[in-house]
Amino acid sequence: PLGARAAAQQRERATHRLAVLGEMTGGIAHDFRNLLAAIGSGLRLAEIRAEEPESVRTYIAAARQGLDRGIELTSLVLAFAKHQELEIHAGNLNEFLRSFEPFLRYGAGPDVRVKLELGSDIPNCLIDPALFDSAVLNLVMNARDAMPSGGEIRVTTERLVQTAPTPDLPGPETYACVRVKDDGCGMAPEVLRKVFDPFFTTKGEKGTGIGMLQVQALAQMVGGRIRIKSERGIGTTVDLLFPSIQADL
Ligand code: ADP
Repeated sequence: PLGARAAAQQRERATHRLAVLGEMTGGIAHDFRNLLAAIGSGLRLAEIRAEEPESVRTYIAAARQGLDRGIELTSLVLAFAKHQELEIHAGNLNEFLRSFEPFLRYGAGPDVRVKLELGSDIPNCLIDPALFDSAVLNLVMNARDAMPSGGEIRVTTERLVQTAPTPDLPGPETYACVRVKDDGCGMAPEVLRKVFDPFFTTKGEKGTGIGMLQVQALAQMVGGRIRIKSERGIGTTVDLLFPSIQADL
């Protein structure tokens, strides 16, 4: 059975999750309307230029791209909606990461090493293991993409004591933190600003631009937070932070 603090946190989290879902839905409806508008104008232009097969092909292709994105966005929303019933477990990030390690190595691919360094005093927290695994995998794959000629990704856990609130992290609170660090290409400030925007990608055809949005939502669904530090040419560090459920810490 969960302790009183954990139970209170779980209730708080349920309310918070609804707020996150509400926020997401609002943002997504807005993006969806833009997509429909783009599809509409692509089709209208194809109609107007019906006599020019080359133009028609271009406009239809643009409309189709909008359509594909719309389908992707819908799938994302459905995936979250399906996860209404969070499978929340009280546990330790180290255990989750240990059992998920082979998948992280697989996700990193053959040219990138994954170094797992697990801290010894990580407080227990509440987590949905499936959401957690998928978030960490997403981060590892982004780190891999940032190091096209190979390198090392460090996945570490640590106990983080926040004595007073800062703009990006409430406190006083003790957090269990998982950090994914790469020394890849890093992000320019204007990329960092847009990193959670749906469909924002610098990877052209290969990118979907929904990975980081997904990670943010996955963390927030269970009351966690995400923090990013990145510098162009130096690398990127992403922290996922989950409040401790141990009142004595
Ligand atoms: P995608 O990976 O499909 O592009 P994401 O939402 O996961 O979509 O990421 C959006 C953008 O953020 C990426 O295209 C990339 O420019 C930047 N980004 C994310 N993670 C990293 C990282 N570890 N290093 C450098 N850039 C990153």
